[in-house]
Amino acid sequence: PGQRPIARIPSRPIPPRPLSRPGGNGPRPAVRGKRVIVIDPGHGGPDPGAIGIGGVRETNVVLDISLEVSRILQRQGVTVYLTRTDERDVDLPPRVSLAERVRASAFVSIHANAISMSRPDVNGLETYHAPGARLGSRLARTVHNTILRSLRMRDRRVRPARFYVIRKTSMPAILVETGFLTCREDIVNLRS
Ligand code: ZN
Repeated sequence: PGQRPIARIPSRPIPPRPLSRPGGNGPRPAVRGKRVIVIDPGHGGPDPGAIGIGGVRETNVVLDISLEVSRILQRQGVTVYLTRTDERDVDLPPRVSLAERVRASAFVSIHANAISMSRPDVNGLETYHAPGARLGSRLARTVHNTILRSLRMRDRRVRPARFYVIRKTSMPAILVETGFLTCREDIVNLRS
């Protein structure tokens, strides 16, 4: 990781397609046999995101998780693009435009949560979709329940939210808050 980027930008230009409705998460015609997923590790570089127990930085944790998720998807024959593969600053609009350019069939933003250091008891998994996004909320429930089946974590529910990257993308898009960096239980999983 970091030396050979997983992100592969196509050498052929992709023909332009009509701009989708802002905030729309409607269905799109699937290209047969080609599944393209964009994985979006939150924050990066000078933006560390949340800082948790022991000084663990969200940006590092979510990059590790994103690279691992990408490897798993690639082994399953999915084409994966990452919005970043190392510690660098990426604005929100380019994260969305990458997903549009490669015509992703899904967009998954990966984050880690935080609350006051004085609340190490607050833990659990939250998964977000854009308000009113039918396919986005389906994807959110699927991912959320799959994680809960394999990890012992508190269910903090699937929720709608107006986060930029899930609101501006036209494909089903979710944002996963993988656990609390400030929680003494979640930090064990996030560290590993
Ligand atoms: Zn974050």
